[in-house]
Amino acid sequence: MVTMNAVVLDEWGGSLDVAEVEHPGPGPGEVLVDVRACGVTRTIENAVQGGLSDDPALTPRIPGHEAAGVVAETGDGVPDWTPGDRVLAYFYLTCGRCDRCRRGHQNQCVNFDGWLGVQREGAYAEYASVPARNLLPLPDGASFAEGAVASDGLATPLHVCERTGVDDTDTVLVVGAAGRIGIHLAQLAANRGAHVLAADVDDDRLAHVDDLTSDDVTPIDARGGDFAERAREATRFGEGPTVAVDTVGDLDTVRAAWDALAMGGDLVTLTTHHERSFAPQLADFVVKEASVVGSRYATMDQVVRAARLLADDRVDADYTTTVGLDGVADYHAALRVGETHGMGVLEP
Ligand SMILES: [Zn+2]
Repeated sequence: MVTMNAVVLDEWGGSLDVAEVEHPGPGPGEVLVDVRACGVTRTIENAVQGGLSDDPALTPRIPGHEAAGVVAETGDGVPDWTPGDRVLAYFYLTCGRCDRCRRGHQNQCVNFDGWLGVQREGAYAEYASVPARNLLPLPDGASFAEGAVASDGLATPLHVCERTGVDDTDTVLVVGAAGRIGIHLAQLAANRGAHVLAADVDDDRLAHVDDLTSDDVTPIDARGGDFAERAREATRFGEGPTVAVDTVGDLDTVRAAWDALAMGGDLVTLTTHHERSFAPQLADFVVKEASVVGSRYATMDQVVRAARLLADDRVDADYTTTVGLDGVADYHAALRVGETHGMGVLEP
């Protein structure tokens, strides 16, 4: 048996261990990717804990989806890819045929079939066999690690900015600004001309945001009951943020972000805590003409454009740690207790 090394999760919420597993030859319609980089992130930690699916039939499982690599081999019926092509992975397993897919909204596929690294083997491995439809071209000039950052950590913020039309008329409040979504969103919104209030809850994390971003990004402390008032006061004319993006899912800060909004503002929610809900008064929507906007991952086009932004040095990829397969479990342990700054990248 031809084998490879991979990080295998024994059961949802269980342990991550390096193991020698069968080499995944590409089936029909699939492409074997030589994985060069894969983000090790809170999204994957959520999947590891069973937050996306806890179906025991899906384990043992190789997690990981924020991946970039090189095409090693193509299965039958894959005319579009050739060995040697540099590629990026798309996280969602989509149909490519429904109205939403055909219109370019793959993140809204009505035949959504799950996630890479959950319903099928992911990229915490030397090789991954993925549906050809899930591969996108990694732009020239983007490193593999930048591809790993683009595939979710920058594509998701790009989707937020395009959902809400962020431009130079906006003040954007980012809650959880030191996380990988937050820090890339802060940069992106500033690039589009917005003034950005980058909120987080820890002095080291706020200093990290300040180091990595331009003068158009103002760090603010999200701790304390007067956060809404401080966020409003930190805007240029005290009018409040026109766009507030919650990347955390803490209900106190979601409420504060909603209260801080400017007239006509948008509150964007990005988290998927099933058990948490937020119910503003109906009058709040009308009096401020405010909106709550859900934002779900990104389109395939946005994933590629996110990688181009990194290749062109228009956004700095915030990855601070590189690990091998044997470092993945420890990095997940650090993610679990919130001890990481920036993003970790696996280079198998
Ligand atoms: Zn579809």
